[in-house]
Formats: sequence, structure tokens, C-alpha cells
Amino acid sequence: MKREHLDWPFFEPRHRALAEELDAWAARELHAGHDADVDAQCRALVRRLGAAGWLRHAVAGTAHGGAAETIDTRSICLLRETLAWHHGLADFAFAMQGLGSGAISLHGTAAQRARYLPRVAEGRALAAFALSEPEAGSDVAALACSAREDGETWVLDGEKTWISNGGIADFYVLFARTGEAPGSRGISAFIVDADTPGFEIAQRIEVIAPHPLARLRLTNCRVTKAQLLGAPGEGFKVAMRTLDVFRTSVAAAALGFGRRALHEGLQRALARPMFGQRLADFQLTQAKLAQMATTVDSAALLTYRAAWQRDQGRTVTREAAMAKMAATEGAQQVIDAAVQLWGGAGVASGNLVESLYREIRALRIYEGATEVQQLIIGRDLLKES
Ligand SMILES: Cc1cc2nc3c(=O)[nH]c(=O)nc-3n(C[C@H](O)[C@H](O)[C@H](O)COP(=O)(O)OP(=O)(O)OC[C@H]3O[C@@H](n4cnc5c(N)ncnc54)[C@H](O)[C@@H]3O)c2cc1C
Repeated sequence: MKREHLDWPFFEPRHRALAEELDAWAARELHAGHDADVDAQCRALVRRLGAAGWLRHAVAGTAHGGAAETIDTRSICLLRETLAWHHGLADFAFAMQGLGSGAISLHGTAAQRARYLPRVAEGRALAAFALSEPEAGSDVAALACSAREDGETWVLDGEKTWISNGGIADFYVLFARTGEAPGSRGISAFIVDADTPGFEIAQRIEVIAPHPLARLRLTNCRVTKAQLLGAPGEGFKVAMRTLDVFRTSVAAAALGFGRRALHEGLQRALARPMFGQRLADFQLTQAKLAQMATTVDSAALLTYRAAWQRDQGRTVTREAAMAKMAATEGAQQVIDAAVQLWGGAGVASGNLVESLYREIRALRIYEGATEVQQLIIGRDLLKES
């Protein structure tokens, strides 16, 4: 992977070293493509990412296996960009360890952090983040899954859907309505171990780029009071703070996919003979490549601006939303252009640009669809003026 952007002033020497080490590791260890058994492949990737030390960056607290006391946004962005360039499922495996355990890093008690985070960082336990429901996706404050207190336990009932790592996760950070107040103020977060009685996988969901994904059902599912994560009624804030850490990293993953598509497009344009010259020799091709490269660099600048700004302790609501929107939408265009450069071969199953074409699509929807990012940016602009 080309690394000129590592010279940008957003980065410190440790970031450059991290990206270069991961790039070398990924080139050696990861080979594009999905196995027939995507669950087994994902579990194996988590173990390998853990054994190699990369997952330490996805959790906070050196006492619990983390690389630092807080999650460094530039590090997770560089990790996701590099992993996405090499292998979409490896990026997914890394991202879910972070998103699934992020609320524990941010809001867990000492006992919760000690119990879960070291296993996540070492790749010995798989994490999941269960927020969305059939009737509550973009409008997440409408969630209906409920939790009621009963003696020393909380009793959970309801459904969650589109849950990444659903079916293979060892635990789920799950959000349920506890009713302290209406809407977003009456939600709490819980840690639900996958083997808790009353917790089941209602349906496995297959998507265009294979990832473990499921609908969950909770029926009279009892968890102890010790599994409450954060204060009762504060679950929405817990969810939003967690997403806030990882939103910029979705942009970084899209950037990795887009950058790979640009690389593949360039290689094809240079190699493909056509009308007595090469595809790359036509000005129409050069215009296409110019647009692709500009889109990639714009996404990179927005992504690392947001990451750098967050690492300075500054609010990044608008900047992260801009990065997520521009990088995911831009990568879709860049990948589409790469498929076009490849012609028929670009849509053949197994071709790298074909897999990128499928891989990028969901990023424009999850962790806040593009329209949701537009609303965040628009509202923030209006608030400021
Ligand atoms: C592959 C994948 C993995 C996922 N993983 C997880 C996970 O691990 N955990 C989890 O909790 N959830 C997960 N999700 C769920 C994801 O966060 C939701 O799909 C997303 O929030 C959108 O919700 P929805 O699907 O219900 O679509 P809806 O909320 O029905 O939205 C449909 C469309 O409406 C548009 N829209 C939304 N808001 C507005 C608006 N205000 N104005 C105009 N148009 C609007 C957008 O284009 C949006 O795509 C995942 C989803 C996918 C596809």
C-alpha cells in the first residue's frame, strides 16, 4: 500500500511506524477472499489480530491489555485503512472488537473492564454491539427491547437486528429500554454473555459481502445487576459516545477500500492493451483516474483531520460526520470507476474490484446512514450560526 499520506502533519512517528508494521504484516499474513465458512474465518482472524498485538489498539487501558489509556483515533483509523486495503473481513474483525467493547472501555466498572477487555485485546473473546432493532435503525431512540428490575437481576425481553458478529460473539453490549424517562433518556446498556439463558440467535442474515450478522431474541433473559453498563437511563449516551469514537474509523475503512480500488484501476489501465495503445493512454482514462485520486485524497484529508482533532480532545461531531459521509460515498464512486476500468472482468465473481464493490455498500448505511450524517452536519452549522 502506498503511504505518502503518512508524511502529513496529522501523524506522529509512532503512527507512521504502526501503519508500516501493519502493512508489512498484512501483506504477509492476509490473502484476499472469503472462506466458505465465514464464521470460522472471522474467529481465526480475531485470534490472529489479537496474537499479533493489533487489537490492543481497539481497547483502552494498559492494565487491561490496551495499547494506551485511551483509544487513539489516528491509530485505529490507520489500522482500519490498512486492513481494509488488504482484506475486508480482517477490517471487520478488528472494527467489531473495538465497537463491541468500546462502551466497556469508556463506561465499564473496574470489574467489567478486567473481565472483558483483556480477552478482547488478545483475540480470545469476540465482541458485538447490539443497538438496532427492526423498528429502530436510524431512529434509534425508538428502540423497544425492554429491561425491568427483578430483585438482584435485570430481565430483558425483545429483539435486536443487523447485529455484526451475531452468532459468533462471546458477549453483546446491548441497549434496552428501562423507562426512567421517555425516548432517548429511558435507555440503559447491559453486557449480555452469549450463553445467558433466554438469549438466542433468532435468524442469521446473509448480506452482499459475507460477514457474521444476526437477529437476536431475548425472552425472559436474566442478567445480574453487575452486567448493567453505565448508569441506568444513560444507555443512549453510552451508545452515542461509543459510536463517536468509532465513526471516523468507518471513514478510514472506506478510505482503505477506495485506495485499493484506485490501485487496482491504475494497474489495469497500465496493463490493458486497447486500440493499439494502453487503456491508460487515453485522456478519458486519465480524467477518470484523476477524479478517483482526488476523491481518495479528499476523503483521507477529512478522515485524518477528524481523527487528529479528536485526539486533541476536541469535539468532532461535524468533522466526523463529514469524514464518514465523504469517505463512504466517495469510495463507492471510486470503486465503481475501478470496476468500469476493468470492464467485464470487473464484475466477475472473485475479482478484487468486484468484492470491493460489494464490501463498500453497507458502510453508507451503518453507524448512521449518509442522510443522518447530512442532518448532523446541517444542524451543527445552524447551531453555530
Ligand atoms: C452490514 C450491516 C452491519 C450492521 N451492524 C450493526 C451492529 O453491529 N449493531 C447495530 O446495532 N446495528 C448494526 N447495523 C444496523 C445499522 O446501523 C442500520 O441498518 C442503520 O442504522 C439504518 O437503520 P435501518 O436499516 O433500520 O434503516 P432505516 O432507519 O429504515 O433507514 C432507511 C434509509 O432511510 C434514510 N434516512 C434515514 N434517516 C433519514 C432522514 N432523517 N431523512 C431522510 N432519509 C433518512 C437513509 O437513506 C436510510 O438508509 C448494521 C447494518 C448493516 C447493513
